[in-house]
Amino acid sequence: MRKILVVGAGQSGLQLALGLQSHGYEVTLMSNRTADEIRSGRVMSTQCMFHTALQHERDLQLNFWESQAPKIEGLGVSVAAPGSWAEGPAARAIDWVGRLDGYAQSVDQRVKMAGWMETFAQRGGQLVIHGAAVSDLDYFSRTYDLVLVSAGKGELVSMFGRDASRSPYSEPQRALAVSYVHGLGPRPEHPDYDAVRCNLVPGVGELFVMPTLTTSGRADILFWEGIPGGPLDVFNGVKDPAEHLSLTLELMERYTPWEYARATKVELTDAGGTLAGRYAPTVRNPIGRLPGGGLVLGVADVVVANDPITGQGSNSAAKCAASYLASILERGEKEFDEEWMQGTFDRYWDTARHVTKWTNAMLAPPPEHVLNLIGAAGQLQPAADRFANAFDDPSDFENFFYEPEKTAAYLASLS
Ligand SMILES: Cc1cc2nc3c(=O)[nH]c(=O)nc-3n(C[C@H](O)[C@H](O)[C@H](O)COP(=O)(O)OP(=O)(O)OC[C@H]3O[C@@H](n4cnc5c(N)ncnc54)[C@H](O)[C@@H]3O)c2cc1C
Repeated sequence: MRKILVVGAGQSGLQLALGLQSHGYEVTLMSNRTADEIRSGRVMSTQCMFHTALQHERDLQLNFWESQAPKIEGLGVSVAAPGSWAEGPAARAIDWVGRLDGYAQSVDQRVKMAGWMETFAQRGGQLVIHGAAVSDLDYFSRTYDLVLVSAGKGELVSMFGRDASRSPYSEPQRALAVSYVHGLGPRPEHPDYDAVRCNLVPGVGELFVMPTLTTSGRADILFWEGIPGGPLDVFNGVKDPAEHLSLTLELMERYTPWEYARATKVELTDAGGTLAGRYAPTVRNPIGRLPGGGLVLGVADVVVANDPITGQGSNSAAKCAASYLASILERGEKEFDEEWMQGTFDRYWDTARHVTKWTNAMLAPPPEHVLNLIGAAGQLQPAADRFANAFDDPSDFENFFYEPEKTAAYLASLS
């Protein structure tokens, strides 16, 4: 059987490794951490995944936590009235919630990746705990039929050249600060069901609030995305998790008091329940050339890393893994040559390009027609629902989001 090496045990690498394994491929998975190290380590993401991505996991029967994880049935948007926080807590100008056709879920990657890694090994897969270097890959590219690099945003990306034509930003556009908490109250506007809440604070940043399943059961995530240099960009160098949480709450009290009101009793889930950082959204050339002449194919975040403002990276990783799996299976016994690698990426890019376009648009100040759309969704439930469901299929934004004429025509069709 064909031998495949997968480097990096995240959403894409594990989904691909387990998928290939179930089709009888001889798969080696290289991870720089053990399952226990991942499980007891720091949170890595907020990992909210929508219907299509979750379905890819179901198709491979990898939805081990589906019955325990909270079902996220809506996606809400609130907007702070610009400048209203100058004299005291911000006022809320817009507030609505769209209903998702299929529910979303967030399973802490510490739970999922550790569990999937153990499953891969139990099913006879070869798991190697080793942080791969370029020199290792040079050797392995000669001994495996295919080497897939799914190592996320780590150092191995240096093998893949940046595609400037698809990467409009060369610097990080948001400073990220995540806290996993227990004790958050329900959203009073819809106490009977869970939703991801997106709170936009114009010129300052965004707060995302969502339920998750973590190592200690159900929890909620408070996730600030701050415009660099602005008032939310204060988490750099904060080492103490308690201080990280209290900063998070102070900022909520000022900029999103309607979310703060249900957060007054929260406490961190665990000592690893906070994360801060930033990165520049980057699209890369998918094929890495090794010093010895071998080729490796980049997967998911290695080749298309978007800012988490739209909560798409894990979704994209699942879609990338499903698309690459199909391309590998269709290739049969033929060589995984450069042309095949490029074609495999291009097939995925056909989906990913919509995510990149939309995410990069959301990082910029919204144009007037987008503000109108977000405002109108408060009165037009079908617009709220459509906006929410486009998180599952961002290609739909082409129909009503980017061009003022299309937005106006869409809103007119509803009234
Ligand atoms: C703060 C934050 C919030 C986010 N929220 C969301 C969200 O709500 N929804 C969503 O869809 N996405 C979200 N994302 C994005 C999402 O987490 C990532 O896009 C997704 O995890 C990428 O999957 P991946 O398989 O490409 O890489 P990763 O999940 O990063 O996995 C890569 C793995 O490779 C390992 N590795 C690295 N280098 C090496 C090496 N040299 N050798 C061996 N192993 C190596 C790493 O340790 C890691 O385990 C968020 C990201 C951040 C930072």
